[in-house]
Amino acid sequence: MLKIYNTLTRQKEEFKPLHPGVVNMYVCGPTVYNYIHIGNARSAIAFDTVRRYLEFKGYQVNYVSNFTDVDDKMIKAAHEQGITVPQLADKFIQAFMADTTAVNIEPATRHPRATENIPDIIAFVQTLIEKGYAYESDGDVYYRARKFAHYGQLSGQSIDDLEVGASEHVSADEIGKKEDPMDFALWKAAKPGEISWDSPWGQGRPGWHIECSVMSTKYLGQTLDIHAGGQDLEFPHHENEIAQSEAATGQPFVRYWMHNGFVTIGKDNEKMSKSLHNFITVHDIIKTVDPQVLRFFMATTQYRRPIQYSEDNLTDAKNNLEHIQTAYDNLTYRQQDAATGDDALVTQQLADFTARFTTAMDDDINVQNGIAVVYELVKAANTYAQQAAVKQGALQAYKDKLAQLISIFGIKLVAHDNHIDDEQIKALIEERNQARKNKDFARSDQIRDELKQQGIILEDTPQGTRYKKEQ
Ligand SMILES: [Zn+2]
Repeated sequence: MLKIYNTLTRQKEEFKPLHPGVVNMYVCGPTVYNYIHIGNARSAIAFDTVRRYLEFKGYQVNYVSNFTDVDDKMIKAAHEQGITVPQLADKFIQAFMADTTAVNIEPATRHPRATENIPDIIAFVQTLIEKGYAYESDGDVYYRARKFAHYGQLSGQSIDDLEVGASEHVSADEIGKKEDPMDFALWKAAKPGEISWDSPWGQGRPGWHIECSVMSTKYLGQTLDIHAGGQDLEFPHHENEIAQSEAATGQPFVRYWMHNGFVTIGKDNEKMSKSLHNFITVHDIIKTVDPQVLRFFMATTQYRRPIQYSEDNLTDAKNNLEHIQTAYDNLTYRQQDAATGDDALVTQQLADFTARFTTAMDDDINVQNGIAVVYELVKAANTYAQQAAVKQGALQAYKDKLAQLISIFGIKLVAHDNHIDDEQIKALIEERNQARKNKDFARSDQIRDELKQQGIILEDTPQGTRYKKEQ
């Protein structure tokens, strides 16, 4: 039985979607004014992993993730680069798709853009005005936070506590327009020269919070099964989404709220920020780090825990991933001389591994315990592959199970069919010995490295060079 920690109730709850077999899931996407940083990637990877696990469990997942393609940051960045806001958005949406594809994040079922939903946003705001939850003020429209009885429920604070924090962030031009410091903007009047749309309140553009209420309910229905995003979005973004959506529809907005933990940088666990010069984009990371390694590193920390981004941790991830790939390759290699047929013991063993994996992951997507089961499976597969007599079907069953479980972490195991046979290995060792005699160490190192890539480890002994296959 799958349990998910619900931020709203602060406990793990049995997961039951509204419609059996179907999960309607919304994940807040990035503002597309720059390449995504590892904080964005963490969220996208965490919930892609959740989605993959739900699909593994047999659910059909309708996964919607938005692009915020108009706001103050977009307007400022477009102006600085001398391009229009839509041009800026197009550029970084393309970059987002390239970066997320590189780390094997499945495209969402839909990736709606705020600017493509302006009529729906205007209609939603009008509904809130008609119901008395919102008011127009000098071309802006604000939401009356105090009118919504449950305001503060998600972040677990009273509205008066929240007000202390909120009043520090009210911009000067908003102070005179709001009835109350807790009120937040649904629609903003355009300043001269800014991108804008016609509305009943004059030329303007939507606020940030309203786009998610509109697009999530438009594409997934009034009540979502899962709404997810970074911890930093709990307040005010998600609090405001609840207030907007439930006031407009009269229905519970979200059954399970999921929030992912932060990414910290280096040994000192610094928070990432532009001022600390440790603002790392995926675009830059994958110039030097294998995207699969980055994916595996991030996907193997449970979504609620913080991730420490460091060279050491990436190296560990790389080694662990290689270990899994090598096991897969060993199984492939043994298939060359395996007898046909299955092995009932292996079939039973794999069913047990699947059950243990599922138990681990059912506990709030505990990927750390889940991957530990995969490592045990790797060990069992290596042991089997070393047996003198192996069965074709059993080898394939190990391979299929490994590929299936590791795909939940976003990893594609590849079949290396360019295996070299023992004769070729011996010929290369002979060539290497010759190169060493001729003091051609560049060539001898090259041969050693080529063999290592194929999982062949050389050991130089007084009796000559021996080789073994990496486990
Ligand atoms: Zn959002």
